Amino acid sequence: MTSEDDLPVKKLFLSPPSLAELATSISAGLSINFSSSSCTIETPPDLTLSPFHLAGPGLTGSTRVVEVGDRSYLVKRDLTRKYDLRAVARQIDMNPSTGLLIGAGAGPFFVLGQNSELMPNFAYGIAAGSDVESVRNRTHYAKLKPDGSVQCSALPSTSDFGLMANLFCSDGEVGPCLHIRAKSRTGALNFTETIQQALKTSFGDKLISVGGVFVITSGKVDVHVMPDFPAQPFKDRAAVAKWLRHFDMDTGNGEPLVCLSVLHSGDDGGWGLRVEHTHCFTESSDSHTDKGGHYHYDVDDTKDTVEYHAWFNVAEYVYRVDPPT
Ligand code: ZN
Repeated sequence: MTSEDDLPVKKLFLSPPSLAELATSISAGLSINFSSSSCTIETPPDLTLSPFHLAGPGLTGSTRVVEVGDRSYLVKRDLTRKYDLRAVARQIDMNPSTGLLIGAGAGPFFVLGQNSELMPNFAYGIAAGSDVESVRNRTHYAKLKPDGSVQCSALPSTSDFGLMANLFCSDGEVGPCLHIRAKSRTGALNFTETIQQALKTSFGDKLISVGGVFVITSGKVDVHVMPDFPAQPFKDRAAVAKWLRHFDMDTGNGEPLVCLSVLHSGDDGGWGLRVEHTHCFTESSDSHTDKGGHYHYDVDDTKDTVEYHAWFNVAEYVYRVDPPT
């Protein structure tokens, strides 16, 4: 049997623009698409706190993005594709003594008994002079219930996932990041597309990979949740798109959507990277909520009142784990 640590891994060193250059670019892009916006370089507050709820306090140190598995494994219904965030951390040469992995993926169907959306949010650390690892796992998943409604719950008990994931990884240390605010959408692009378009305008084909967290505190958002697997593989990706269930999720009432995001701009040199992947969850004192899944865009009905608040950082490396052959 092949161990998860033996999966094929590809690695690419990026030479990203400075945070200052990125902030200038993203500021210009946001101003075209939102009536009020800013992108500055700041050190975030402790991101483990509300409203961000990350498993680690920051997004700095040994930054890298990784795409694990592939969308085609869902199309083929390849249920042999099982992964583990802890193994991924080793495969992509993360700091063994501290790390944070956040992003968007497919839930561990082999643990949960059905398919789901996953919001990986996993930190580990080993204190100096100790060999005991501490883990903080604030991963959530969103699934369809038998009545067709959504259930979003914490999944602290496992670091497993299936099929695919796009992850932004770092030491989880607190340090300078891109601080982005955008309010009242005036253009056609969604929040992540606005950032991608800005980077493309400024830097053309240069591959730039960023990731982080944003909260949507006002407005309604189009989110999809995957149903359980069908009995047979899909005909093609279009058939998958038809099978997904879409919901308008309201972010008001003091229940912001927390979105974990990875995106790329530029030419990936034939790697076939997924250019954007963002999953969201709601944190609640109850055991679950009815809001979470795959972020698409804020809906036009609430574009005047929609409000985004983000902390992002730029990756130094891109990794691909277990790509299709
Ligand atoms: Zn997704």
